[in-house]
Amino acid sequence: AADLPSNFIYDAVTADVEQGQRGGRVQTRFPPEPNGFLHIGHAKAIVVDFGVADDFGGRCVLRLDDTNPETEETDFVDGIINDIAWLGYEPAEVRHASDYFGQLYLWAEELIGRGLAYVDDQTPEEISQGRGGFGRPGVESPFRDRTPADNLDLFRRMRAGEFPDGSRVLRAKIDMASENMQLRDPIMYRIRHAHHHRTGDEWPIYPTYDWAHGQSDALEGVTHSICTLEFESHRPLYDWFLRQLEVPDAPRQYEFARLEFTHTVTSKRRLAKLVADGIVDGWDDARMPTIGGLRRRGYPASAIRSFCREVGTTRTNSRQSMEALESYVRRELNEAAQRRMAVLRPLKLTITNWPVDGDGNPVVEHFELTNNPERPEDGTRQVPFTGQLWIEQDDFREVPPPKYFRLSIGREVRLRGAFFVTATDVVKDTEGNVVEVLATYDPATRGGDAPDGRRVKSTMHWVSLPHAVDATAALYERLFSAEVPGDATGEPLDDLNPNSRELLTGCKVEPALAEAAGGEVVQFERLGYFAVDPDKDMYFHRTVGLRDEWAA
Ligand code: ATP
Ligand code: MG
Ligand code: MG
Repeated sequence: AADLPSNFIYDAVTADVEQGQRGGRVQTRFPPEPNGFLHIGHAKAIVVDFGVADDFGGRCVLRLDDTNPETEETDFVDGIINDIAWLGYEPAEVRHASDYFGQLYLWAEELIGRGLAYVDDQTPEEISQGRGGFGRPGVESPFRDRTPADNLDLFRRMRAGEFPDGSRVLRAKIDMASENMQLRDPIMYRIRHAHHHRTGDEWPIYPTYDWAHGQSDALEGVTHSICTLEFESHRPLYDWFLRQLEVPDAPRQYEFARLEFTHTVTSKRRLAKLVADGIVDGWDDARMPTIGGLRRRGYPASAIRSFCREVGTTRTNSRQSMEALESYVRRELNEAAQRRMAVLRPLKLTITNWPVDGDGNPVVEHFELTNNPERPEDGTRQVPFTGQLWIEQDDFREVPPPKYFRLSIGREVRLRGAFFVTATDVVKDTEGNVVEVLATYDPATRGGDAPDGRRVKSTMHWVSLPHAVDATAALYERLFSAEVPGDATGEPLDDLNPNSRELLTGCKVEPALAEAAGGEVVQFERLGYFAVDPDKDMYFHRTVGLRDEWAA
């Protein structure tokens, strides 16, 4: 179809399908390790993995890569499933690498029997020493020439739990002189007497990523195993195992560049540290580049999907600017968000010529305001107005500086959708701070236009004081002040921005906002887009500004 992304992965899949490779089928998998929640980098992999499957009428399986018992938790599994659903994808199936522990074990015995794997008693240090380095061939282990019978016996005893952690490993017998370090007798199993969140205490040995991954792909019927560039050098090993096992229609691995952003980190380990150190409130703090964080912040899933699709899939590592992602968010919210009025830093405005009714109570007017000029079908709402209002502190200066066109004494401005008002005087506290502005209104400007064609230079938002609802707003700066966190010192946390969140309590918002649903994003007129926190009452996260405010 014409709107398919154009990139090397789509080219490869198209060619395979046309040539009827692997039955012309397309099956992918998304294989996160459940040792943390998903981040924006994972969203890219999800869009590629699920996108390829959808675009070619194939299927994509979610496979939890649970081969490290110590770090994995069921909470993360549930979070991952939830995040994928929120992003708009549905796995054809949910599998776990641990589903295959039995078959992987049998295959390992088969390779041992054929002299293609051996038990190594060296310490982890000796093994890594013996590996050598680039331009420096490895040294064969003194245990490399054990007989298949001895290896099988030792391997079975490893599996039976006879040996302590780290005392032995199973290695593939490939080539200690290979240019490719991955082929220098890679480890297939290590001993870990650890409780696994699914298999419990059944296994004292666990497969490595390299041993588990390609074989799990094969067992599931994956055709295209798409991963990130750091696995490129593992591809010969991926192919080697499948070849030895004579897997028919073996899957193939393809690699693309990781998605990374300026001013943040996309590494579960580092994100976990931010959580553990209490620098953020949790994995889904609105400053986190996690799916949960972006969701709380108010990023639409569709904006994340479009960004990931349109940013391209390449084999060159690069960093995207956060601003680029924000522009997708802003574009979608501009279409979708309801407009509301909210005053973040309130200053009282009293209209001295406002009328009272027969009982001496101030008159209450209602103005009909448009919910979203981009979507007339969203209709209008009634917004109450009286002679006592909240306006933004920034919108008034007793003595206006040059080029300041908002309210000041003697100046007339428009209160959005209501009336023209002219400031006449101020009330100050004992320290000389302005605590109230006095003004008069022109009843002829009802609705916000003067019949005599008189113009004003500024239109301001407002909230009726007796009708206002109290709210809290969280404003955000970048979580890391450096464009590339850790660039200077190697430690990203050195570049944390200590002022990444500013909490404003005592905000005053129009009554309609009390009805907003958790997770909804609204536009506070003139202030930006704000997401309603799903858990806290009347708490709004600033998603993005109305325009790019970060540009230098
Ligand atoms: P981390 O370093 O954050 O732990 P990871 O690669 O170890 O990342 P996994 O849970 O193993 O995380 O990742 C699952 C899938 O998501 C893998 O296929 C991986 O390549 C992909 N992925 C992870 N991070 C990114 C990223 N920044 N950009 C694109 N794909 C990513
Ligand atoms: Mg990983
Ligand atoms: Mg990792």
